[in-house]
Amino acid sequence: MECPVENRTKIVGDKFPDSGIPVSESGKGHSNTMSTTQPIVERAMFPLVPRMTTVVEITQLTPKMRRFVLQGEDLRSFESRDADDHMKLVFPAEGQAEPVLPQVTDQGLKLPDGAVPPQRRDFTPRLFDAATGTLTVDFYLHGSGPAGNWAESATIGSKLGVLGPRGSKVVTGGVDVYLLVGDETALPSIARRLEELPAGQKAIAIVEVDNPAEEQEIETKADVQLTWLHRNGAAPGTTNLLEDAIRALPKPEGTVYTLVGGEATSLRPIRAYMKEAGYDPALTSFSGHWKRGVSDHDHHEEV
Ligand SMILES: Cc1cc2nc3c(=O)[nH]c(=O)nc-3n(C[C@H](O)[C@H](O)[C@H](O)COP(=O)(O)OP(=O)(O)OC[C@H]3O[C@@H](n4cnc5c(N)ncnc54)[C@H](O)[C@@H]3O)c2cc1C
Repeated sequence: MECPVENRTKIVGDKFPDSGIPVSESGKGHSNTMSTTQPIVERAMFPLVPRMTTVVEITQLTPKMRRFVLQGEDLRSFESRDADDHMKLVFPAEGQAEPVLPQVTDQGLKLPDGAVPPQRRDFTPRLFDAATGTLTVDFYLHGSGPAGNWAESATIGSKLGVLGPRGSKVVTGGVDVYLLVGDETALPSIARRLEELPAGQKAIAIVEVDNPAEEQEIETKADVQLTWLHRNGAAPGTTNLLEDAIRALPKPEGTVYTLVGGEATSLRPIRAYMKEAGYDPALTSFSGHWKRGVSDHDHHEEV
């Protein structure tokens, strides 16, 4: 297997191997033992429970990434088994102190009569701590929209609704290399997965952020090659950084499980290239987390 990065911690401003792309990397050399088993994909479904939560902690992780810790009795039954899980956050309407949550009825979820449907957006459960009943969510402060606006103005005590996750898709065994690719909206999921991977599991992570100040320290026991790509002031979703990095990456040997998330339009050429390069489509997942110029983009839309 190719080992483009040697044992080292963090190098800011280095080049992605052979590509000329400005990046920083941290990683360990990968060893050579390939898996002989196939990955097992298990799906777990959870009841759809509307949950009201309260902000109990706010941390500015980087200039543009703000962490919220949410707490609430309703979170006692919360479950999230995989880093790729997502939930709908429900935001209070303008002028309201808390969001209107749907009720569970025989016909499914229903809003109270006369209620204006609240704004909802997809987010990653960055961490759920069952012992303290707290749910952590990282918001990228991109500037506009109900989620972005809420994150800019929320304070300790602010209310936020949580719907889901509806289920988890857990992959066990048989993966030689996790290939995790995305922008700031995928970073919560990528960071969570790197933290949760077992010791020795190989992973390659390629993350696009605006500049070196947006890089995060990620603790992991896994054998990770992490590359940060910098837009250096270009608008999110307007560069080829991720595509160029994937094209420059020698295809890892063995069974590769790939997760790609970011601006929908910019993921299309990456998907086309990966198909052409022989990445197994059954083990490759693309999620258009947002779309330029579109509010509330549907991530189920094919990339
Ligand atoms: C499965 C999944 C998991 C996600 N997890 C996270 C997460 O953990 N943290 C997180 O921050 N985001 C996450 N996202 C992305 C988030 O849902 C979108 O960015 C969402 O559009 C934000 O809603 P909004 O109300 O702020 O903006 P919207 O009302 O949806 O959009 C308003 C405007 O802002 C633009 N816009 C939206 N998002 C971005 C962006 N990231 N950068 C630049 N412009 C943008 C839109 O193109 C539009 O022009 C996730 C998305 C999915 C599908």
